Amino acid sequence: MRQAELIFIPTPGIGHLVSTLEFAKCLIDRDDRLLITILSMKFPFTPLADAYTRSLTASQARIQLIELPQVDPPPAELLNSVEGYISVFIERNIPNVKRCLTKIVSSNSNSGSARVAVLVLDFFCLSMIDVGRELGLPSYLFLTSNAGFLGLMLYLPSRHNQMNIEFSDSDPALLIPGFVNPVPPVVMPSAVFNKDGGYTAYIKLAQRFRDTKGIIVNTFTELEQHALGSFPDGQTPPVYAVGPVLDLKGQPHPGLDQAQHDNIMKWLDFQPPSSVVFLCFGSMGSFGATQVKEIATGLERSGHRFLWSLRMPPSPSPDNILPEGFLERIEGRGMICGEWAPQVEVLAHKAVGGFVSHCGWNSILESLWHGVPILTWPIYAEQQLNAFKMVRELGLAMEMRLDYRSGGDLVMAEEIERAVRRLMDGGIEVRKKVKEMGEMARKAVMDGGSSFTSIGQLMEDMIGSS
Ligand code: UDP
Repeated sequence: MRQAELIFIPTPGIGHLVSTLEFAKCLIDRDDRLLITILSMKFPFTPLADAYTRSLTASQARIQLIELPQVDPPPAELLNSVEGYISVFIERNIPNVKRCLTKIVSSNSNSGSARVAVLVLDFFCLSMIDVGRELGLPSYLFLTSNAGFLGLMLYLPSRHNQMNIEFSDSDPALLIPGFVNPVPPVVMPSAVFNKDGGYTAYIKLAQRFRDTKGIIVNTFTELEQHALGSFPDGQTPPVYAVGPVLDLKGQPHPGLDQAQHDNIMKWLDFQPPSSVVFLCFGSMGSFGATQVKEIATGLERSGHRFLWSLRMPPSPSPDNILPEGFLERIEGRGMICGEWAPQVEVLAHKAVGGFVSHCGWNSILESLWHGVPILTWPIYAEQQLNAFKMVRELGLAMEMRLDYRSGGDLVMAEEIERAVRRLMDGGIEVRKKVKEMGEMARKAVMDGGSSFTSIGQLMEDMIGSS
């Protein structure tokens, strides 16, 4: 029987690792011809990533983890564009990746096994296609975002060839394959506006999509039918919709100890069904002190029960941030948890009836899976685009903001109060659609479902049927 070694190279941020590592596990469970190697890069700002990768791969007999040596971090001044910074970090890892892959290839050929080896690259690692080529390894992309984002990335190189300039807020709305409606520039990822690094980094990555052997996307046909139908254009490699790929157990985190976890779950156990609004803004979302105060006031005035994962800004001290007497007044009906919430478990709890989310793609899939409607509050990366798709195209989320960005205008307490009321008291149509889509998500990954079938096709294309 022909065996295959899939070498996954994820970007070490939690939002990328969750689905990548779960997908690796899912493949192992599906096909015993597979061995998986994960190359783990050490990113300076994500200590959690190492622990998470180790814990997820530890008990898997056919997954081996190779931790690459630490590289010098990129200069701090590049941090004005996260995408530019990550791209430089990835480039610095290439020599280590190459050494490691060379060893793997030579040990596979010395062992005389007819083992096929394939690279499965994260979006930010696409420049490693060239290393793969030198060593005769084909590259697949595992896209942790959705098919709409894929449409944007496939579109960017042609726009760049025509205009050679970053986006501007005053650009007209654009017709982008993968989106039903014209996309206004205000919902584009921040990187495409940033001429110092972000735009260039994005274009470089976008130019490599068509050099892959296939594009694996964490989405499912029933959710993104239109987008997935717009790619067989003769130029795009095969696209495999394999999702939702979720970590339904949730991630360990140093900011969440067992006692805190138990407190949260116990508190939820005492709340009536669908009565709690949950607020959580991803692995990196946070607000300044003034915005935190507005959120607190808005929640208090909404009269609804809430669980708020509050990542405190570094200063001033947390005690001075919340309105005076707030904690006493909300006692019993509101709970604030530290900077990390057991999000998946919270969304699965029957007490939770709504989710104020930054619209990271994992968070969206998790909330759909559990049938909890989202109120959109995007902050960074491609979250505005996700929010736009969910609200305007799919009718699967309620709008608070589509175009908010990190450091953007204040969202005032009145707006938050009104939006939370709309989410919790109204939105019957959205709530119904979300529940139906959650059921379709579960079917998609079951034997015979659309994503299950697509994974089967992917494996045949990677390994062949021999
Ligand atoms: N997450 C969590 N607790 C938190 C914040 C995030 O468990 O307090 C998890 C969340 O469930 C999701 C991931 O971290 O699986 C975040 O991924 P997403 O794509 O939503 O956002 P990102 O962090 O990449 O912006």
